[in-house]
Amino acid sequence: MSYLQLQEEILDQDLCTSCGACVAVCPANIISLNDAFLPETTLDSEMISNVCVSCNLCSEICPGRETDVPASEMFLFGRTRIPEERWTGIMQKSNLVSAVDSSIRDRASAGGAATGLLVSALRSGLVDAVLVIDRDKERPWIPQAILTDDEQTIINCAQSTYCVAPNLHLLKETKYERIGIVGLACEIQAIRKIQRHPKTADLAKKIVFTIEIGCASSTKLSGTEHLIENKLNIPLEEVANVRYRDGQYPGAFTVYTKDDKSKELPFFELVKEFKKFKTFRCLSCRDWWSGIADISISDGDPNIYASSQHGDIPSRFSMVVTRTDIGQRLLELGVNSGTLVAVPEKFEPEESLGLQRKRFRSSSFAKEYPGRVPDSAVLFPDDDAEREDDEIIATMSNRIS
Ligand SMILES: Cc1cc2nc3c(=O)[nH]c(=O)nc-3n(C[C@H](O)[C@H](O)[C@H](O)COP(=O)(O)OP(=O)(O)OC[C@H]3O[C@@H](n4cnc5c(N)ncnc54)[C@H](O)[C@@H]3O)c2cc1C
Ligand code: SF4
Ligand code: SF4
Ligand code: SF4
Repeated sequence: MSYLQLQEEILDQDLCTSCGACVAVCPANIISLNDAFLPETTLDSEMISNVCVSCNLCSEICPGRETDVPASEMFLFGRTRIPEERWTGIMQKSNLVSAVDSSIRDRASAGGAATGLLVSALRSGLVDAVLVIDRDKERPWIPQAILTDDEQTIINCAQSTYCVAPNLHLLKETKYERIGIVGLACEIQAIRKIQRHPKTADLAKKIVFTIEIGCASSTKLSGTEHLIENKLNIPLEEVANVRYRDGQYPGAFTVYTKDDKSKELPFFELVKEFKKFKTFRCLSCRDWWSGIADISISDGDPNIYASSQHGDIPSRFSMVVTRTDIGQRLLELGVNSGTLVAVPEKFEPEESLGLQRKRFRSSSFAKEYPGRVPDSAVLFPDDDAEREDDEIIATMSNRIS
């Protein structure tokens, strides 16, 4: 059991989510991430067998194929989800939430709940740093995770980065002791595995809370480069900044250039273009939310594709589901400190375009590639009828005006 197992079972199968967890846990420090955000080792196979201590931690922590959600549900809630909780996971409360401060709200993807929660946690001293997604300073179209204790940096990093963006490798060597994390379902799955594993207790004790944002699928960096170069006709060397949900909600993909100009593409165009730039892992992924974060968040508007297509401007809210006691306390901290406002609202999985697309797409993948797809807590006896992705988008997004 060594690095070669990770290579064969995950990397060679295109099952890597690029979460970075294997880098964080490797005691021999032989795994790093390459320019495509994939783990690699520069050692040849003989050197691997000399240096790799065959602890198998990289494979055990990896959420690429084994997400281990039921075991994490037992760890967190003392039970696994029941069929009625198939798509929501086990939850305490759901609210529509928005940030009070317009400098957070207007910079966020939705209502700025994620950013407001991180800022509240830092201000209160609950954490001494948070893990968010920034941009590479030299090549600003490339996402780069950052651990920060600076409030303004957290606010600058608000908004979704619809691009593969590893973050958990940063947990490896850090001066911070109490960290709040925002990430996608696969990243939360890796974190819960780290928290449950007896050999990764040192890493686990640094993690104070996890927030996940819903994920219909992420996109390779080549997708972002395609939009910039081929759809907006901007050479990459001219890029000063990239924002995926800029301006009026639900926002547009906007590229700022070094000559202080900008060009944009409506969100629904981004969704269509990005279809060609997905990994097998994302296309076969079942978990829109993992259901095992302390707090799960999505857009308040359940179909921003349709809103962007029809030119609607819905109210700017995030749907916030609290699952654990720390998650509930964190939301209360945000509200009681005046950073966030929250209004109770039921979460309806049937209305969420992202969730429904993921549900049917992953269901077809499970049938087409038995044995190769990631496991999932939502794999109850599958009664889903076959439905094509384009059909779901069309039926859920066409509106009679
Ligand atoms: C790939 C992807 C797919 C998504 N699919 C859906 C969907 O189908 N339906 C839906 O309702 N919502 C989806 N979302 C979430 C949605 O876009 C908003 O992020 C969410 O509603 C939170 O909004 P907010 O205003 O509360 O967050 P904000 O206040 O804007 O904060 C967002 C936080 O998330 C962090 N972040 C951004 N991108 C990433 C990333 N790639 N990896 C890790 N952390 C990141 C930022 O650093 C920031 O801290 C998706 C997000 C991503 C990144
Ligand atoms: S030392 Fe352990 S974690 Fe590192 S590559 Fe080898 S088996 Fe994986
Ligand atoms: S999914 Fe995460 S842990 Fe698994 S190989 Fe990829 S980066 Fe490493
Ligand atoms: S689709 Fe699944 S694997 Fe891909 S980024 Fe989203 S949660 Fe992770």
